[in-house]
Amino acid sequence: MITFYPGPSKVSSKVSKYFQDAVLDGVLSINHRSPEFVDIYTNVSEALKEKLLIPEDYVVLFASSATECWEIIAQSLITSSSFHIYNGAFGEKWFDYTKKLKPDSQEILFDMQKVLDIKNLTIPSSAELIAITQNETSNGTALDNSTIKTLRDRFPEPLIAVDATSSMAGIQLDFLNADVWYASVQKCFGLPAGLAVMVCSPKAIERARAINERGHYNSLPFMLDMAEKYQTTYTPNVLNIYMLMRVLADASSISETTTKTHGRYKQWLEFFSEIDAISLLIEDDRVRSKTVLALTASEDEIANMKIKAKQAGITLGNGYGNLKSNTIRIANFPAIKNKEIQILMEFFRNHLS
Ligand SMILES: *Cc1c(COP(=O)(O)O)cnc(C)c1O
Repeated sequence: MITFYPGPSKVSSKVSKYFQDAVLDGVLSINHRSPEFVDIYTNVSEALKEKLLIPEDYVVLFASSATECWEIIAQSLITSSSFHIYNGAFGEKWFDYTKKLKPDSQEILFDMQKVLDIKNLTIPSSAELIAITQNETSNGTALDNSTIKTLRDRFPEPLIAVDATSSMAGIQLDFLNADVWYASVQKCFGLPAGLAVMVCSPKAIERARAINERGHYNSLPFMLDMAEKYQTTYTPNVLNIYMLMRVLADASSISETTTKTHGRYKQWLEFFSEIDAISLLIEDDRVRSKTVLALTASEDEIANMKIKAKQAGITLGNGYGNLKSNTIRIANFPAIKNKEIQILMEFFRNHLS
């Protein structure tokens, strides 16, 4: 069985080894206030900075999911309103969750086929935070580093928070261009679900301290207090944090990983350009995600392909939200093997006209 699902996705082939080591070394029973845990947290924090090129003065925090990060941001970094810019289902969900806590928050939807037009964007001066989805997993679009930089330059005042759930550790991100970045580990990190990493700039930390919201177990000031001691506010997913440490230790530099991701992306482009029955959902290369490919075909073709893929032992990503019946998605994440890509290409060759 091989999977191209864009989350939960294929885990690193080394996970079984990491898991075994965790059992043998007693990691599963260590106390989250112990020096052993503090060492693991410290190690992960340093490795994330080194491997993903996260600035030294950003703070690394743990949460249980990207969804929880939406809530942490809404409760602890916004007093009355944020501004959400999105073109797909995950950006919309983030906005929906935020509105439940901060009803004055506002949104703008942009065309998924178009480059986000920042020059003509108006953001109310009341917006304390701008929320963007760097990689929109539902439709296979992305905002590149230069777009986020332009946003930062045009709107220097509000915090910028970035959902990078399906791209962090898969492509290089310029962390300096925004204040809060988060991702859950079941996408590009190649780990099982149940853990998210959230990184905060000094400006985000300062804002959290100024607002000083302390009404929740994961209120940001409380998380930051604990992070100073390399601890968490609750008993965390120690196993996954340990495996994250191992995955990062074995990971290539992010520039090498980016080269690999881009190379595979190009391979897929060439491949699909020769097949008539299926095409990329997003037409403009500048807005296409490099880590998640959305493909579109007739509803019959999609339905047929899903059945055939299942029979062949291949899991494809279903279309998401309103794109369910006429798209499929395939992950282009680092843990996927070249051999598996060859198998999927062979499958498409045999089952598509
Ligand atoms: C998968 C995903 C999420 C949700 O992640 P959870 O860990 O399930 O909360 C949020 N945003 C994006 C862009 C995603 O791809």
